[in-house]
Order: sequence, then structure tokens, then C-alpha cells
Amino acid sequence: MNPFEEPPLRDDLRGMTPYGAPQLDVAVRLNTNENPFSVPDAVAEAMEKALHGLLRDLNRYPDRDALALREDLATYLGHELSSANVWAANGSNEVQQQLLQAFGGPGRTAMGFSPSYAMHPLLARATGTSWLDGSRSARFELTREHAMAQVRVYQPDVVFLCSPNNPTGGALELDAIEAVASEAPGMVIVDEAYAEFARPGTQSAVTLLPRFPRLVVTRTMSKAFAFAGGRVGYLAARPAVVDAVQLVRLPYHLSSLTQAAARAALAHAPALLAQVEAIKIQRDRIVTGLRELGLTVPDSDANFVLFGRFKHQKAVWQALLDRGVLVRDVGLAGWLRVTAGTAEETDAFLTAMGQVPHGA
Ligand SMILES: *Cc1c(COP(=O)(O)O)cnc(C)c1O
Repeated sequence: MNPFEEPPLRDDLRGMTPYGAPQLDVAVRLNTNENPFSVPDAVAEAMEKALHGLLRDLNRYPDRDALALREDLATYLGHELSSANVWAANGSNEVQQQLLQAFGGPGRTAMGFSPSYAMHPLLARATGTSWLDGSRSARFELTREHAMAQVRVYQPDVVFLCSPNNPTGGALELDAIEAVASEAPGMVIVDEAYAEFARPGTQSAVTLLPRFPRLVVTRTMSKAFAFAGGRVGYLAARPAVVDAVQLVRLPYHLSSLTQAAARAALAHAPALLAQVEAIKIQRDRIVTGLRELGLTVPDSDANFVLFGRFKHQKAVWQALLDRGVLVRDVGLAGWLRVTAGTAEETDAFLTAMGQVPHGA
């Protein structure tokens, strides 16, 4: 055997590079939509206590069904949901991968509405699901008519809607989600990773679950709950959807450490959600500040803001980095995305933006 031979990778994965933003050591990191606040002391102490109590039991496998955690998540979501409606995994990315394993796969199709979350097509590809790229308006909006027309043409097995949408920021009107759920022949997944950051009056697709048996809402603790390192995402749907996902999940996929830490965080939801309100204030400051600089900024229901338009967004990205501020080039020509951080981080970002030549 030739030791220099390439391993026999699947044809459809050849030439791909792994997904991920640069993890650079910069003073002001506003590139991955993380919660800027460290875990509050009271919450960290509750987690320590919970973990301490189970360390000696790590010889045992965790609760395979994560029932207590799913119950807590259902209680948090409300709307009369129970653990039978909820499934949890290591981040909502894993939840979505499981959904594609169960409802997509070879010979099946999934679609989204670009520009949207880059992981959706990547998860489709990795699960052998063909990807169909739908579109939004020039202003990144998706009306009920435009969404329905595209679903009618493509007839996809799985539709991804992202609301609030990453990277553009806006939430969908509930009637657009409703229209897609009525029109789609297969599953409709609404990625609500940023639901907690939405502006007042925004309704969650969770309210539609009783009427649409093939609707799934995914959520995450990575953003609002400052738990990105803990890795917990979840879904809400009909119990039959939860049953289906269990056919493809790995046994014991969610460690007992993860389950216990997440439950401790959920028990302190009010303290963590108070931080969300502080982040929303910074988000709104960024929108206003950038518009005052003459930039184009779509409204945001998330903890980040898209801004442009630049002739060369890469040059602006670099100029900000030179000033110690890391933002995200999401690969959308003319645009950059910045995460809402602390008040000090917002100051640093807006000051740097005031110095950067926008014509660049
Ligand atoms: C950040 C993000 C997620 C979260 O992924 P996790 O795996 O839960 O950390 C999901 N969807 C979108 C659109 C996101 O931006």
C-alpha cells in the first residue's frame, strides 16, 4: 500500500474544506454571534453543584432519552408542550443533522432561501440530501407569495426557514411560515436560533405546531443562554417527529455532564434572559450607529447586524481587524456581519467603523 495515497473519501466530499469562522486572538471578537457575557456566578455555581453530584456516576451511561432535560425545555417553551414534543442534542446543528438523516438523505431534496445559514446546505450535503437554493428579495425579505411559489416549483422533501434569518437579521412574518407549511409536501424546519432576540411582536413558529404535523422548530442554548460551549440545541414538534429522530440518533449522544449543566442553566432562565435584553440594546445601538454613518442596515431581530454595502467587504473586514475588531465576512458580496456584544465592544466597533473608509 502506498502510504502517501489519499484516503478513499466519498466523491461528493472531495475538495471541500471544513466549515468554521477563523478563531483569532483579537481583543474584540464579534464574528460568531456568541453571547458576550460570561455565565453569571449564580448560574455557574448551580452548574458546579449539579456536576459535582454526578461525577462519581460517570461510569454509567447517561439517560439516553434525556427526559428530564426535555421536560425542562418543554416548560421553558410553554405553549402546552411536553417532553414528548421536544428532542435535544449537542447543538441545534446536530438536531438538524438528525432531521436530515431521518427525513432527507439520498434521493431526497432539501431547500432554503439564500442568503441564509450556511450550515443548512452543508448538513444536507453531508447527509447525502440534494440541496435546492431558493432566493429572497434584493432586500433579503421573503414574502408569503415568493416562498410558496418556490416551494411549489421545487417540491422539496425538507424546507429550511431561518427566522430570525442568519446572516441578514430579520424574522419572517408568521403568515409566510404558515404558507410554506401549507404548501410544502414534506417537512418544514424553522431554525429559531435567535428567537429570544426578536423585536417585540414577533411570533414564534411554535404557535403553529398544533396545526401543522410536519412542522419542526429548532432552538439552541448557544446564543440566548450563553451556553455555546455547553452544546445544547433542541426541537419542538409532534411526538411522531421525535420518534423518527430517535431512529438515527446515536445512543447516549448527550452526555450526563451536558444534560445536568443545561438543566442548571434553564433553572436560571430569567437571569440569562436579562442579559439578552442588554444585548438587544447594543444591537439597536449598532443599527442606529451604522445608519448614521450612511451605511445600509437591514432591521435585525437577532444578536447581530448585517451592514454594507461595500465595494470590497474584505478590505473593510481587514481594516476593522487592524483596529482590533473581528467581524464576519459571510461571503455575501458587499456585506459584513457584526455580533452585538457588550457596551464597550459596541463602542470599539462603532469607533473603528467611523475610522474605516467606507468606499473601500
Ligand atoms: C448559531 C446558530 C445555530 C446554533 O447552532 P448550535 O449548534 O446550536 O450551536 C443554529 N442556527 C443558526 C441559524 C445559527 O446562527
